[in-house]
Amino acid sequence: MKIRPKTFFVAIIVCLLIALLLWPINIEHTKPKHIKIVTTIFPAYDFARTISANTDVSLKLLIKPGVDLHNYEPTPQDIINIKESDIFIYNGGESEKWVEKIIADINQSTDVIRMMDLVQLKIESDEHSDEHSDAPDYDEHIWTSPKNVIKISSAIANTIANRTPNNATTVRRNYDRFESSLKKLDTSFQELAAAKTGTLVVADRFPFRYFVDDYGFDYIAAFPGCAEQTEASPKTIAELIEKVNQNPNKIIFKLELSNGKTAQTIAEATKSKILVWHSAHNISQSDFDSGKTYLDFMKDNLTNLKEALYDYSAS
Ligand SMILES: [Zn+2]
Repeated sequence: MKIRPKTFFVAIIVCLLIALLLWPINIEHTKPKHIKIVTTIFPAYDFARTISANTDVSLKLLIKPGVDLHNYEPTPQDIINIKESDIFIYNGGESEKWVEKIIADINQSTDVIRMMDLVQLKIESDEHSDEHSDAPDYDEHIWTSPKNVIKISSAIANTIANRTPNNATTVRRNYDRFESSLKKLDTSFQELAAAKTGTLVVADRFPFRYFVDDYGFDYIAAFPGCAEQTEASPKTIAELIEKVNQNPNKIIFKLELSNGKTAQTIAEATKSKILVWHSAHNISQSDFDSGKTYLDFMKDNLTNLKEALYDYSAS
């Protein structure tokens, strides 16, 4: 069969067009793979974000700003995101029972970090633990102590650096900087505990066990751990009022994203001032949009705790 020059020319053009269409796909295959990190809670997201700054690692926070992590239910898309992640970071406590079912059949190539495996756990106070369970209920709020965050973020940094060698130098540098900020914070809290005294009065839930135990702060709270009740009993209110009245600085704390109802009642009864003690459970949308970090919240906490405590001479 004789091929006409015009047909031959058209065939060449078609072949060239097909080659051009396939070209970007081939390029994609030769590039280093971008690592996808998926985290459940804000603290995990913040640590991974700080450690992977200025790299090509992508990050996803599943529990969106403003959402209460204690009642969280994953969406079908969350499950897909976890399964498609290269590194999945979760906390692993009572509030994240839903995660266990998903990671049971997660991809073998995903590195899974359970933050509660990385620190010394504390058992929750009796009032909040599950009486029907034989296993002890561990307090899940491990990140409230900067000492724990040093251990957690070190493990996160190692995993990211191993997984993406082209970013390892940047990741190490970021981690070193983060670790030195955490150590500074740790020293500041130790110095505060040594220099000042007083009972910290929290008219709210109390997720700060790891923090107060690590630094030796004295406290009283309306509800243990992250108990679901929101109405304090008259007896509890009376105890909180008595403690506020014993403090010359008259400061009462409420948590971030809390309605602060109990704090308001006590503040009115005692003419005291309400300050926020940030547990970093989650972040408001506006704080998230303005780029607030775990370190920012801890520095605010340091300022507020300083205001609430007083010199030994005043006692
Ligand atoms: Zn909690």
